[in-house]
Amino acid sequence: MKFDFPIKPLTATNDSNDFSPNEPLLKKVKNLRKNKRFVKKRKFNRAKLPHPITFYRNLSIDLKGIGVWRMAKCPFHSDTHASMSINTDHGGFICHACGQSGDMLSFYISFKEVDFITACNVLDLWEK
Ligand SMILES: [Zn+2]
Repeated sequence: MKFDFPIKPLTATNDSNDFSPNEPLLKKVKNLRKNKRFVKKRKFNRAKLPHPITFYRNLSIDLKGIGVWRMAKCPFHSDTHASMSINTDHGGFICHACGQSGDMLSFYISFKEVDFITACNVLDLWEK
């Protein structure tokens, strides 16, 4: 008996090449995971911020008054008289006119219009 059906030639198919394009992708994913771990490891330390009075003076914010709470002109709206309270103990601020509030780091981020990473770089807040 003779079967006559077409037999596919046993040449290299594309299947063998299917895995190679995935290899760089796998590497990429591994690197991404590594980078993620790296970012997680990087810790910032608020304690490395300067004293609130020095911090705000360096940003040319004029602090008026005495005591823990000082008043200053708010840089986030067109302020005619000092309507921003700044705590010289922990550096927190709140504007009674426009409602902007936060701590020294968020002040820096909003004031200089930078992102968190840049702020930590400039203020040298990363733990070594
Ligand atoms: Zn304000």
